[in-house]
Amino acid sequence: MKYPKDGRFGEFGGRYIPETLVPAIEELEENYLKFKDDQRFKKELDYYLKVYAGRPTPLYYAKNLSEKLGGARIYLKREDLLHGGAHKINNTLGQTLLAKKMHKKRIIAETGAGQHGVATAMACAALGTKAEVYMGHKDMTRQELNVFRMNMLGCKVHPVKSGSKTLKDAINEAIRDWITNVKNTYYLLGSAVGPHPYPVMVRDFQSVIGYEIKSQMKKINKTPDVVIACVGGGSNAIGTFYPLMDQNSEMIGVEAAGKGLRSKMHSATLSSGSPGVLHGMMTYLLQDDEGQITKTHSISAGLDYPGVGPEHSYYKDTQQVKYHSATDADVIDAFLMLTRTEGIIPALESSHAIAEAIKVARKTKRSESIVVTLSGRGDKDVQEVQKYLNRHEQN
Ligand SMILES: *Cc1c(COP(=O)(O)O)cnc(C)c1O
Repeated sequence: MKYPKDGRFGEFGGRYIPETLVPAIEELEENYLKFKDDQRFKKELDYYLKVYAGRPTPLYYAKNLSEKLGGARIYLKREDLLHGGAHKINNTLGQTLLAKKMHKKRIIAETGAGQHGVATAMACAALGTKAEVYMGHKDMTRQELNVFRMNMLGCKVHPVKSGSKTLKDAINEAIRDWITNVKNTYYLLGSAVGPHPYPVMVRDFQSVIGYEIKSQMKKINKTPDVVIACVGGGSNAIGTFYPLMDQNSEMIGVEAAGKGLRSKMHSATLSSGSPGVLHGMMTYLLQDDEGQITKTHSISAGLDYPGVGPEHSYYKDTQQVKYHSATDADVIDAFLMLTRTEGIIPALESSHAIAEAIKVARKTKRSESIVVTLSGRGDKDVQEVQKYLNRHEQN
């Protein structure tokens, strides 16, 4: 759906917000609609994406991995090579530039593992504006390095000590700040989630991934048979899928099955959740019978979210996209296999997509092609992987 005027993808999406936020959201939508097709805005954003973030990213034929598996040719969309090491900068540059056009003096954001916080701090430093980031207290201790990074980048980090002291509480706190400081503050959301127009806007900023894949595949006279991306909030996946919707490719989003879907220690929202309302949107959620959000788990902090972007919920129900999941164990195997065959260390988030590609490749013909979005690099994850290996006494 190009731009759903009512902000609905079928029954999903919408705008479940307190009255005090309505003017701010309307102002945001008005400005997004004004600038998204504005030639000067697009030129300026393209410039930063190119010379600051490092676009276009290569589409790499993973020859060693493909030959090892003996099936389809696997192509990796190298978002891991972007500045900051992940796709998140595509969105933070877009929204920071928009905030500047809106003359907002102050940018706030939420962050879970700290990746979005760092990407926000970078974009704000580059474009010369101030950032403040809300982060769960528990996440701050788990992801200390990213807290230091944000501090170095001149960004203030607010510890959130309410609730579970993690991402969903940080979002609640950021929304509270926004309500209080609506006039001069821009809320920079980190994934294709939240009230309309955030899911569409973040998708559009991330769609640069899918458009590049389209033209890069065209150059080698191919259309992908299968396209795979990991799904946390769903921004790298929707940015990959949306521009390729007209290509008859099979699309697969991969969620975190953690310790297994039956263990309840997972964050596979679409695979095992049910519709409800959270953070301003109607979407699939992990919730109990009373509608309380349940605890999530994933070996990758970036996929550890109990909701998902509403456009994915819609594509799940229309079956335009399939949603599968990968367990922590599958993910570690995929991480090691890509690292050792190609010399590319993938983020644990991205390793979910690699795990699915490995499964699919084994069932496909050599003439077919699979495109996998490698959303980020895994330098941040090597300690986590080592810990996992020590625990499981592999190697
Ligand atoms: C944050 C992150 C994700 C998950 O976010 P989406 O909005 O689902 O894309 C995936 N991969 C990496 C490397 C990340 O940093």
